[in-house]
Amino acid sequence: MEFVKIDGAQGEGGGQIVRTALTLSAVTGRPFRIINIRHNRPNPGLRNQHVQCVLATQRVCSAQVEGAEKASRELSFVPGRITAGKHEIDIGTAGSTSLVLQTIALPLSLADGASEVIIRGGTHNHFAPTYDYLDLQWLPFMRRIGLDIDLELISPGFYPKGGGEIRANIRPASGFAPISMAERGKLERLTIRAAVNNLPRNIAERFIKQTASQLKSRNIRKFKTEIKTSSGVGRGTYVLLLAEYENSSACCFGLGKIGVKAEKIADGMVKEFIEFHRSEATVDKYLADQLPLPLALCEGRSAFSTPQITQHLLTNADVIRKFLAAEILIEEREACGTVGVCPKQ
Ligand code: ATP
Repeated sequence: MEFVKIDGAQGEGGGQIVRTALTLSAVTGRPFRIINIRHNRPNPGLRNQHVQCVLATQRVCSAQVEGAEKASRELSFVPGRITAGKHEIDIGTAGSTSLVLQTIALPLSLADGASEVIIRGGTHNHFAPTYDYLDLQWLPFMRRIGLDIDLELISPGFYPKGGGEIRANIRPASGFAPISMAERGKLERLTIRAAVNNLPRNIAERFIKQTASQLKSRNIRKFKTEIKTSSGVGRGTYVLLLAEYENSSACCFGLGKIGVKAEKIADGMVKEFIEFHRSEATVDKYLADQLPLPLALCEGRSAFSTPQITQHLLTNADVIRKFLAAEILIEEREACGTVGVCPKQ
Protein backbone atom coordinates (compact mmCIF):
# COMPACT_ATOMS: atom_id res chain seq x y z
CA MET A 1 0.00 0.00 0.00
CA GLU A 2 1.21 3.51 -0.77
CA PHE A 3 2.67 5.47 2.17
CA VAL A 4 0.84 8.60 3.33
CA LYS A 5 3.51 11.33 3.26
CA ILE A 6 3.50 13.86 6.04
CA ASP A 7 5.67 16.92 6.61
CA GLY A 8 6.00 17.45 10.37
CA ALA A 9 6.87 21.10 9.75
CA GLN A 10 3.39 21.91 8.45
CA GLY A 11 1.15 24.27 10.41
CA GLU A 12 1.60 23.90 14.16
CA GLY A 13 4.68 21.73 13.54
CA GLY A 14 4.46 19.93 16.91
CA GLY A 15 3.98 16.47 18.38
CA GLN A 16 0.24 16.33 17.68
CA ILE A 17 0.96 15.70 13.99
CA VAL A 18 2.80 12.48 14.90
CA ARG A 19 0.07 11.31 17.30
CA THR A 20 -2.77 11.99 14.86
CA ALA A 21 -0.89 10.13 12.12
CA LEU A 22 -0.25 7.15 14.44
CA THR A 23 -3.92 6.86 15.40
CA LEU A 24 -5.15 7.19 11.84
CA SER A 25 -2.58 4.77 10.49
CA ALA A 26 -3.64 2.15 13.05
CA VAL A 27 -7.37 2.60 12.36
CA THR A 28 -7.17 2.83 8.55
CA GLY A 29 -4.36 0.31 8.06
CA ARG A 30 -2.53 2.86 5.88
CA PRO A 31 1.25 3.14 6.37
CA PHE A 32 2.82 6.59 6.70
CA ARG A 33 6.16 8.33 6.54
CA ILE A 34 6.80 11.60 8.33
CA ILE A 35 9.77 13.96 7.95
CA ASN A 36 10.71 17.12 9.88
CA ILE A 37 9.16 15.86 13.11
CA ARG A 38 8.38 18.72 15.56
CA HIS A 39 10.21 21.09 13.23
CA ASN A 40 8.69 24.19 14.84
CA ARG A 41 9.82 23.35 18.35
CA PRO A 42 13.10 24.52 19.96
CA ASN A 43 14.06 20.85 20.52
CA PRO A 44 12.92 19.19 17.26
CA GLY A 45 12.51 15.46 16.73
CA LEU A 46 10.76 12.90 18.89
CA ARG A 47 10.92 13.39 22.65
CA ASN A 48 10.44 10.57 25.11
CA GLN A 49 6.67 11.06 25.29
CA HIS A 50 6.38 10.84 21.48
CA VAL A 51 8.64 7.76 21.27
CA GLN A 52 6.35 6.09 23.81
CA CYS A 53 3.31 7.04 21.71
CA VAL A 54 4.94 5.39 18.70
CA LEU A 55 5.88 2.26 20.66
CA ALA A 56 2.44 2.01 22.27
CA THR A 57 0.68 2.28 18.90
CA GLN A 58 3.19 -0.17 17.41
CA ARG A 59 2.26 -2.70 20.10
CA VAL A 60 -1.45 -2.13 19.67
CA CYS A 61 -1.39 -2.77 15.92
CA SER A 62 1.78 -4.92 15.50
CA ALA A 63 3.38 -2.27 13.28
CA GLN A 64 6.74 -2.32 11.56
CA VAL A 65 8.50 0.88 12.57
CA GLU A 66 11.68 2.72 11.66
CA GLY A 67 12.94 5.82 13.42
CA ALA A 68 11.29 5.44 16.84
CA GLU A 69 14.21 6.91 18.77
CA LYS A 70 14.65 10.02 20.82
CA ALA A 71 15.50 13.09 18.66
CA SER A 72 14.56 11.21 15.48
CA ARG A 73 13.15 13.59 12.86
CA GLU A 74 11.83 10.90 10.56
CA LEU A 75 9.58 7.94 11.13
CA SER A 76 8.02 5.26 9.02
CA PHE A 77 5.11 3.23 10.34
CA VAL A 78 3.48 0.21 8.70
CA PRO A 79 0.48 -0.93 10.77
CA GLY A 80 -0.76 -4.48 11.13
CA ARG A 81 -3.83 -5.89 12.85
CA ILE A 82 -5.15 -4.17 15.98
CA THR A 83 -5.10 -6.55 18.95
CA ALA A 84 -6.83 -6.16 22.29
CA GLY A 85 -4.98 -7.07 25.46
CA LYS A 86 -3.08 -5.70 28.40
CA HIS A 87 -0.70 -2.87 27.55
CA GLU A 88 1.71 -1.34 30.09
CA ILE A 89 3.53 1.80 29.02
CA ASP A 90 6.16 3.54 31.09
CA ILE A 91 7.02 6.95 29.65
CA GLY A 92 10.05 7.09 31.94
CA THR A 93 9.78 10.87 32.38
CA ALA A 94 7.01 13.28 33.40
CA GLY A 95 5.73 13.15 29.78
CA SER A 96 1.94 13.24 29.42
CA THR A 97 0.10 9.97 30.05
CA SER A 98 -3.09 11.57 28.62
CA LEU A 99 -1.52 12.15 25.22
CA VAL A 100 -0.37 8.53 25.02
CA LEU A 101 -3.85 7.31 25.95
CA GLN A 102 -5.53 9.59 23.41
CA THR A 103 -3.29 8.11 20.70
CA ILE A 104 -4.30 4.48 21.30
CA ALA A 105 -7.87 4.86 22.59
CA LEU A 106 -9.49 4.85 19.14
CA PRO A 107 -7.51 1.91 17.71
CA LEU A 108 -8.25 -0.16 20.82
CA SER A 109 -11.94 0.76 20.56
CA LEU A 110 -11.90 -0.97 17.17
CA ALA A 111 -10.22 -4.16 18.47
CA ASP A 112 -12.22 -7.36 18.77
CA GLY A 113 -11.91 -7.61 22.55
CA ALA A 114 -11.42 -5.62 25.73
CA SER A 115 -8.10 -4.02 26.67
CA GLU A 116 -6.54 -2.80 29.86
CA VAL A 117 -4.01 0.00 29.47
CA ILE A 118 -1.71 1.20 32.23
CA ILE A 119 0.42 4.27 31.55
CA ARG A 120 3.07 5.73 33.87
CA GLY A 121 4.45 9.26 33.63
CA GLY A 122 2.97 12.73 34.15
CA THR A 123 -0.76 13.00 34.78
CA HIS A 124 -0.96 16.79 35.22
CA ASN A 125 1.18 18.53 32.61
CA HIS A 126 1.32 22.00 31.16
CA PHE A 127 0.30 22.22 27.48
CA ALA A 128 -1.54 18.88 27.53
CA PRO A 129 -4.88 17.60 28.82
CA THR A 130 -4.48 16.75 32.51
CA TYR A 131 -5.98 13.52 33.87
CA ASP A 132 -8.95 15.53 35.20
CA TYR A 133 -9.50 17.13 31.80
CA LEU A 134 -9.42 13.68 30.21
CA ASP A 135 -11.88 12.27 32.72
CA LEU A 136 -14.29 15.21 33.02
CA GLN A 137 -14.20 16.70 29.54
CA TRP A 138 -12.70 14.39 26.87
CA LEU A 139 -14.21 11.10 28.13
CA PRO A 140 -17.88 12.24 28.21
CA PHE A 141 -17.55 13.37 24.57
CA MET A 142 -15.87 10.11 23.58
CA ARG A 143 -18.72 8.20 25.26
CA ARG A 144 -21.22 10.33 23.39
CA ILE A 145 -19.52 9.27 20.16
CA GLY A 146 -19.71 5.62 21.24
CA LEU A 147 -16.36 4.74 22.78
CA ASP A 148 -16.68 2.43 25.77
CA ILE A 149 -13.89 3.49 28.11
CA ASP A 150 -13.44 3.66 31.89
CA LEU A 151 -10.62 5.68 33.36
CA GLU A 152 -8.92 5.60 36.73
CA LEU A 153 -6.22 7.74 38.27
CA ILE A 154 -4.06 5.34 40.26
CA SER A 155 -1.71 8.10 41.42
CA PRO A 156 -0.95 11.61 40.19
CA GLY A 157 2.42 12.55 38.68
CA PHE A 158 3.74 16.06 38.14
CA TYR A 159 6.69 17.70 36.42
CA PRO A 160 9.62 17.14 36.93
CA LYS A 161 9.39 13.72 38.64
CA GLY A 162 6.44 12.16 36.86
CA GLY A 163 5.75 8.80 38.50
CA GLY A 164 1.97 9.04 38.08
CA GLU A 165 -0.16 6.19 36.82
CA ILE A 166 -3.46 5.96 34.98
CA ARG A 167 -5.53 2.95 33.98
CA ALA A 168 -7.98 2.70 31.11
CA ASN A 169 -10.32 -0.18 30.36
CA ILE A 170 -11.30 0.00 26.72
CA ARG A 171 -14.03 -2.21 25.30
CA PRO A 172 -14.93 -2.46 21.61
CA ALA A 173 -17.19 0.39 20.45
CA SER A 174 -20.48 -0.73 18.97
CA GLY A 175 -20.36 2.16 16.47
CA PHE A 176 -19.34 5.80 16.18
CA ALA A 177 -22.17 8.33 16.28
CA PRO A 178 -21.73 11.92 15.07
CA ILE A 179 -22.17 14.89 17.40
CA SER A 180 -24.09 17.92 16.27
CA MET A 181 -24.19 20.84 18.66
CA ALA A 182 -25.97 23.96 17.51
CA GLU A 183 -26.04 25.54 20.98
CA ARG A 184 -24.46 24.62 24.27
CA GLY A 185 -27.57 25.65 26.25
CA LYS A 186 -27.78 27.07 29.76
CA LEU A 187 -25.07 26.69 32.39
CA GLU A 188 -26.40 24.00 34.71
CA ARG A 189 -23.51 23.28 37.07
CA LEU A 190 -20.15 24.80 37.87
CA THR A 191 -17.52 22.95 39.92
CA ILE A 192 -14.26 24.31 41.26
CA ARG A 193 -11.83 21.52 42.12
CA ALA A 194 -8.46 22.15 43.76
CA ALA A 195 -5.89 19.48 44.55
CA VAL A 196 -2.59 19.14 46.37
CA ASN A 197 -0.14 16.27 46.19
CA ASN A 198 2.38 16.35 49.06
CA LEU A 199 1.72 20.06 49.53
CA PRO A 200 -0.23 21.92 52.24
CA ARG A 201 -4.04 21.83 51.91
CA ASN A 202 -3.97 25.57 52.41
CA ILE A 203 -2.80 26.04 48.78
CA ALA A 204 -5.94 24.30 47.53
CA GLU A 205 -8.06 26.47 49.83
CA ARG A 206 -6.44 29.61 48.40
CA PHE A 207 -7.15 28.35 44.87
CA ILE A 208 -10.82 27.87 45.75
CA LYS A 209 -11.14 31.20 47.58
CA GLN A 210 -9.63 33.19 44.70
CA THR A 211 -11.63 31.36 42.01
CA ALA A 212 -14.85 31.87 43.99
CA SER A 213 -14.17 35.57 44.46
CA GLN A 214 -13.33 36.05 40.77
CA LEU A 215 -16.55 34.28 39.76
CA LYS A 216 -18.64 36.32 42.19
CA SER A 217 -17.13 39.55 40.87
CA ARG A 218 -18.60 38.49 37.50
CA ASN A 219 -21.98 37.75 39.04
CA ILE A 220 -21.58 33.97 38.98
CA ARG A 221 -22.59 32.85 42.46
CA LYS A 222 -23.67 29.24 42.15
CA PHE A 223 -20.89 26.68 42.21
CA LYS A 224 -19.75 23.58 44.06
CA THR A 225 -16.25 23.27 45.49
CA GLU A 226 -14.10 20.23 46.19
CA ILE A 227 -10.58 19.64 47.47
CA LYS A 228 -8.51 16.55 46.75
CA THR A 229 -5.39 15.61 48.67
CA SER A 230 -2.95 12.87 47.70
CA SER A 231 0.53 11.65 48.49
CA GLY A 232 1.88 10.25 45.23
CA VAL A 233 5.39 10.82 43.84
CA GLY A 234 6.77 14.39 44.01
CA ARG A 235 4.82 17.54 44.63
CA GLY A 236 2.13 19.27 42.65
CA THR A 237 -1.06 21.26 42.83
CA TYR A 238 -3.82 22.40 40.49
CA VAL A 239 -7.16 24.07 40.26
CA LEU A 240 -9.87 23.45 37.70
CA LEU A 241 -13.26 24.73 36.68
CA LEU A 242 -15.77 22.39 35.11
CA ALA A 243 -18.74 24.14 33.52
CA GLU A 244 -21.60 21.83 32.59
CA TYR A 245 -24.11 23.27 30.13
CA GLU A 246 -27.33 21.68 28.88
CA ASN A 247 -25.68 20.24 25.75
CA SER A 248 -21.97 20.61 26.38
CA SER A 249 -19.23 21.34 28.91
CA ALA A 250 -15.95 23.20 29.26
CA CYS A 251 -12.98 22.48 31.49
CA CYS A 252 -10.25 25.00 32.31
CA PHE A 253 -7.37 24.37 34.65
CA GLY A 254 -4.29 25.97 36.15
CA LEU A 255 -1.26 24.05 37.39
CA GLY A 256 0.83 25.21 40.34
CA LYS A 257 4.24 26.60 39.45
CA ILE A 258 7.11 27.40 41.80
CA GLY A 259 7.35 31.18 42.21
CA VAL A 260 3.81 31.86 40.92
CA LYS A 261 1.11 32.69 43.48
CA ALA A 262 -1.94 30.43 43.67
CA GLU A 263 -4.15 33.53 43.23
CA LYS A 264 -2.50 34.42 39.93
CA ILE A 265 -2.98 30.89 38.60
CA ALA A 266 -6.66 30.98 39.61
CA ASP A 267 -7.09 34.39 37.92
CA GLY A 268 -5.67 33.04 34.63
CA MET A 269 -7.99 30.05 34.73
CA VAL A 270 -11.10 32.14 35.46
CA LYS A 271 -10.17 34.53 32.63
CA GLU A 272 -9.99 31.58 30.23
CA PHE A 273 -13.36 30.29 31.44
CA ILE A 274 -15.03 33.72 31.17
CA GLU A 275 -13.76 34.09 27.59
CA PHE A 276 -15.40 30.76 26.78
CA HIS A 277 -18.58 31.55 28.72
CA ARG A 278 -19.02 34.91 26.96
CA SER A 279 -18.47 33.35 23.56
CA GLU A 280 -21.19 31.30 21.90
CA ALA A 281 -18.87 28.35 21.43
CA THR A 282 -20.07 24.83 22.19
CA VAL A 283 -16.66 23.33 23.10
CA ASP A 284 -13.41 24.77 24.45
CA LYS A 285 -10.50 25.47 22.10
CA TYR A 286 -8.57 22.38 23.23
CA LEU A 287 -11.36 19.87 22.74
CA ALA A 288 -11.91 21.57 19.39
CA ASP A 289 -8.63 20.13 18.10
CA GLN A 290 -9.21 16.73 19.76
CA LEU A 291 -12.71 16.09 18.35
CA PRO A 292 -12.26 16.13 14.55
CA LEU A 293 -10.32 12.83 14.49
CA PRO A 294 -12.98 10.63 16.14
CA LEU A 295 -15.73 12.59 14.36
CA ALA A 296 -14.12 11.92 10.98
CA LEU A 297 -14.67 8.19 11.66
CA CYS A 298 -18.38 8.57 12.44
CA GLU A 299 -21.15 7.77 10.05
CA GLY A 300 -22.80 11.13 9.55
CA ARG A 301 -22.26 14.84 9.86
CA SER A 302 -20.93 16.50 13.02
CA ALA A 303 -20.82 20.16 13.94
CA PHE A 304 -19.52 22.20 16.86
CA SER A 305 -18.10 25.63 17.53
CA THR A 306 -15.02 26.90 19.32
CA PRO A 307 -14.03 30.25 20.84
CA GLN A 308 -10.80 30.14 18.81
CA ILE A 309 -9.61 28.47 15.64
CA THR A 310 -6.16 27.35 16.72
CA GLN A 311 -3.18 26.19 14.66
CA HIS A 312 -3.59 22.82 16.41
CA LEU A 313 -7.10 22.51 14.99
CA LEU A 314 -6.13 23.56 11.47
CA THR A 315 -3.09 21.28 11.43
CA ASN A 316 -4.98 18.29 12.82
CA ALA A 317 -7.63 18.75 10.13
CA ASP A 318 -4.90 18.72 7.46
CA VAL A 319 -3.42 15.47 8.77
CA ILE A 320 -6.88 13.83 8.96
CA ARG A 321 -7.56 14.81 5.33
CA LYS A 322 -4.39 12.95 4.29
CA PHE A 323 -5.72 9.65 5.67
CA LEU A 324 -9.47 9.93 5.21
CA ALA A 325 -11.75 11.32 2.56
CA ALA A 326 -13.45 13.39 5.24
CA GLU A 327 -14.62 16.91 4.59
CA ILE A 328 -13.64 19.21 7.47
CA LEU A 329 -14.99 22.72 7.15
CA ILE A 330 -13.54 25.31 9.51
CA GLU A 331 -15.01 28.78 9.39
CA GLU A 332 -14.32 31.98 11.29
CA ARG A 333 -17.61 33.60 12.35
CA GLU A 334 -18.15 36.78 14.32
CA ALA A 335 -18.97 35.18 17.68
CA CYS A 336 -16.87 31.99 17.35
CA GLY A 337 -15.31 29.54 14.91
CA THR A 338 -17.40 26.72 13.51
CA VAL A 339 -16.26 23.23 12.58
CA GLY A 340 -18.19 20.78 10.42
CA VAL A 341 -16.97 17.22 9.91
CA CYS A 342 -18.46 15.04 7.22
CA PRO A 343 -16.94 11.65 6.41
CA LYS A 344 -17.20 10.85 2.70
CA GLN A 345 -18.26 7.28 2.06
P1 ATP B 1 5.17 19.73 21.44
O1 ATP B 1 4.42 21.03 21.35
O2 ATP B 1 6.33 19.78 22.36
O3 ATP B 1 5.44 19.11 20.16
P2 ATP B 1 3.18 17.91 22.29
O4 ATP B 1 3.50 16.78 21.44
O5 ATP B 1 3.06 17.60 23.75
O6 ATP B 1 4.17 18.97 22.26
P3 ATP B 1 1.14 19.50 20.93
O7 ATP B 1 1.39 19.16 19.51
O8 ATP B 1 1.33 20.91 21.32
O9 ATP B 1 1.89 18.60 21.88
O10 ATP B 1 -0.38 19.02 21.33
C1 ATP B 1 -0.87 19.22 22.64
C2 ATP B 1 -2.28 18.67 22.81
O11 ATP B 1 -2.66 18.98 24.16
C3 ATP B 1 -3.36 19.32 21.94
O12 ATP B 1 -4.30 18.36 21.53
C4 ATP B 1 -4.03 20.34 22.86
O13 ATP B 1 -5.40 20.57 22.59
C5 ATP B 1 -3.88 19.68 24.21
N1 ATP B 1 -3.85 20.71 25.27
C6 ATP B 1 -2.91 21.66 25.47
N2 ATP B 1 -3.24 22.46 26.50
C7 ATP B 1 -4.43 22.01 26.97
C8 ATP B 1 -5.32 22.42 28.02
N3 ATP B 1 -5.05 23.48 28.78
N4 ATP B 1 -6.44 21.72 28.21
C9 ATP B 1 -6.72 20.65 27.43
N5 ATP B 1 -5.95 20.21 26.44
C10 ATP B 1 -4.81 20.87 26.19
